[in-house]
Order: sequence, then C-alpha cells, then structure tokens
Amino acid sequence: MTHTIAIVGSGPSGFYAAEHLMKTRPGLKVDLFDRLATPYGLVRIGVAPDHQGTKNVWRVFQRTAKRPEMRFLGDVELGRDLSLAELRQHYDAVVLAIGAPIDRALGIPGEHLHGVLTSQELSGWYNGHPDFSARHPDLAGCLAGSGGVAVIGQGNVAVDVVRVLGRVAHEMTKTDLPAYASERINAAPIKDIYMIGRRGPGEAAFTPVELRELGDMAETVAVVDGAQLPESISANDPKDQKLKDKILEILRGYSQNDPMSKRARLHIVFYSAPHEILGEDGRVKKLVLKKTKVEGGKAIETGETWTLDVGVVVKAIGYHVKPLAGLEVPKGATSYPNQGGKVGDGLWAVGWSKRGPSGVIATNRQDSIDVMNKLLEELPATPKADPRPAIDAALTERGVKVVTFTDWEKIEKVEHERAKDGAPRCKVTEWDELRAIARG
Ligand code: NAP
Repeated sequence: MTHTIAIVGSGPSGFYAAEHLMKTRPGLKVDLFDRLATPYGLVRIGVAPDHQGTKNVWRVFQRTAKRPEMRFLGDVELGRDLSLAELRQHYDAVVLAIGAPIDRALGIPGEHLHGVLTSQELSGWYNGHPDFSARHPDLAGCLAGSGGVAVIGQGNVAVDVVRVLGRVAHEMTKTDLPAYASERINAAPIKDIYMIGRRGPGEAAFTPVELRELGDMAETVAVVDGAQLPESISANDPKDQKLKDKILEILRGYSQNDPMSKRARLHIVFYSAPHEILGEDGRVKKLVLKKTKVEGGKAIETGETWTLDVGVVVKAIGYHVKPLAGLEVPKGATSYPNQGGKVGDGLWAVGWSKRGPSGVIATNRQDSIDVMNKLLEELPATPKADPRPAIDAALTERGVKVVTFTDWEKIEKVEHERAKDGAPRCKVTEWDELRAIARG
C-alpha cells in the first residue's frame, strides 16, 4: 500500500510539487489533473511566445511526467468532472495548483465596451489557448490615425503584452506565436502603445530585464517623459535598491529616445489612474485618466484629467483565484486562504493558488518543495485504498475522456511536424482538434 496524491493543475507549481513528492518518497503515486488537454499551464499558455528560453522548462516537467508513479489526466476539470469533496475523499492529500485565473476588474464606466480586453484573453489568444484562440481581438480600432492601444498596469504581464503587440513578424519567426495572431497583429500596424501606471517609476512592478527588452523592438521605440523620472529612487534593502537603480537608468535611456525614430511608439506613462472608458457605437474610443501623485506609497488623484484616443484597452492589473465548491474563499481573494500552503486537512495549495499572482517560474520550485515537505510530514501513516479505480470509474460513468500523457505526446508530435522556419512548434489551438488528435 502506498500513498496517492492528487495535484490539480499541471503548471510549474504542480509539476515541481509532483517531482518533489515522488523523489522524496519513493513509491508514492501522483495523479496530476488539468482542465486543458495539454500540460505545463502558464509555461504553454501564459509565458510570451518570444520567451522560448523560459518556456524550455517544459523539458524538466516532461521527465517528471514520465515517471512510472505518475499519471497525467488532461481535459478533466475540477468542479465539472470531479468535485473537490470527491478528491479529498479518495486521495491521501489534494494539492491545488490551479493558479489565480480570474482577471481583476477595473471597476470603471465603459469596461464592458467592445475593445476592452483582459490580459488573459489577449495572452491566451496569442498563446493559442483553446478557450481564447477563436476570440480574435478587433485591433482595427488602433490602426494608424484612429488611436492606439492602452495597456493598463505596469507589471511583467503588461510588458509581455506590449512586446507581443509591438514586435513585427520577422522578430517572431522562431517563436510559437500562432499564425492567426501573427497575421492579425501585423495587419494592424499599431502606431502608439501606452503602458500606463497609476503610480510612479519607483512603484512600477516590472523588473529591469523585462523593461530593458522593451528597448529592442525592431519597429517600436520606447519613450518616457523625462519630467516623470525622479532624481533617484530609494528602496528598503540593497538588493531592491540595485533593481530600482537599474529601472531608473533604463527609463532615463528611453527618455532620450526620438519618438519618430521608428514606425511606432511605446509610451511608458506614470501617475495616471484609469477613470472612464468612452465609446462610440459600443466600441472603445477614448480612455479618460486622472493624474495622480504618490503619497505614502498610494496613488492620490490630483483632480486633473487627461484623455487618450485609443481603440483597444488591455487590462493587465492582476488576477483572483477561482471560487470552488466546498472551499470558502473571500470575494476577490488573490490566493486560497492558507497557512504556509495548508488550506485544510489534507488540502494544500502551491504557486499562485498559495501566494497570489507573484514571482517568476523559478519562484515556484522552492515554494512547492517547502509545501510538499509539510504535506509529507502530515500524511497519515496508513494510506487510503488506491483511489485510481474509483476515480477512473467516476470519470468513465460521467463520459469524461481523459487525455493521458501519451495522448498529449501525439498532439506534441503534430505540433513539431507542422512547425516551419525555425519555430519550436506550431500549436494546435482548438478544442476539437486537440481532442481528435489525442484520441486518434
Ligand atoms: P503585477 O506585477 O502585480 O502588476 C500589476 C499591475 O497592475 C501593477 O502595475 C498595478 O499597479 C496595476 N494595477 C492593479 N490594479 C490597478 C487598477 N485598478 N488601476 C490601475 N492599475 C492597476 O501583476 P502581473 O503583471 O499580472 O504579474 C503577475 C506575476 O507574474 C508577477 O510576479 C510578474 O513578475 C510575473 N510575470 C513574470 C514574467 C517574467 O518573468 N517575464 C512575465 C509575466 C508575469 P499598483 O502597483 O499601483 O497596484
């Protein structure tokens, strides 16, 4: 008899958790569930297509998935196909590694207008996520002369969105950007992208490496108003200070750029809080912003208003966790209530589900290891009966056709065969086709 753990979510935090469990407790079994038919979570459908170096971590996860003690159960959704109560009943422990997949709302008038997109919709679209691949954003409103794109937020997700919209076709050939996205982005020659922060350069959430990349877009020049840059930014500790100094140095460089030196411009704008989105015939026309100053770390509106002509507004302002039947979650919570990863008896959370949407992929490794060590300490000495027969029977009875790791490898093979011009893969992006290949 051996313990079996259910991990829900096959992104980095789920895979790191699975690897640590199986490595530390030989013989322990893991069932790794995912609502998608494909593994690797944000590595596949969140990390930007031009960050292939980051995406390469899938090779590490693939080794974990091929361990004999592990099963991948794709196209199985918690809450739809299996309940949390069932998982808790059958498995020795359950780990939530399902991220924080609900986009935060701005809560301003006009948010419903056609042309207002969430970062998840847009990055899901350009990453070939099957829920978003057919929801082509209408970029026509940002064609030259009729306005630009406003990206609200200054975190690394905003930076990703800006880069993917700001880069041209030849910069993306060695990526897995789907052809439909490349065609539409290049057919809509966006002239002006605004990346808007409600606070100042000292509070911006982007990191120096990501900010610097905005300076190497072939046809989009990054600019910033030098008057918005302080003499210096002070941070609480030396490591932070180094990062802040670098950010200021990069921004100073951008403030010297000639806005007309390239075909398009990225305007990095500070001290501006979104106030209202104005539309015409149901679609975005203008973004009204309130000027701010920062006091005690908070954005305080000064009373001054300014307006941008934009055809698209992208909200890149963070995420919430998804409410789950059988688990009390406060409205708008950015993580499941937990203490060091423990959510309840035999129920754990890792990654964004535990910490909220923060950190880079590597952050999840140590975090998952720490939580799994606690899980292992608390495992009852006697395992429950093998959960796999009961779970498999429940799924069969409900007509759920599980995508196994071997099935996924069929999809992957097709993606590699279809890849052209040095692209690492040509993604299969529609549910029907993913399922058909998996079952073929
Ligand atoms: P984030 O880093 O928390 O940034 C969110 C941004 O949205 C902040 O600038 C925030 O401003 C702004 N914001 C929030 N509510 C707002 C509102 N109502 N109005 C205007 N602005 C608002 O989140 P993220 O960009 O989604 O990234 C999530 C995590 O993934 C981060 O840890 C990030 O570093 C990581 N990530 C990393 C990479 C990479 O390594 N390349 C790529 C993508 C994501 P305030 O600060 O004023 O609240």
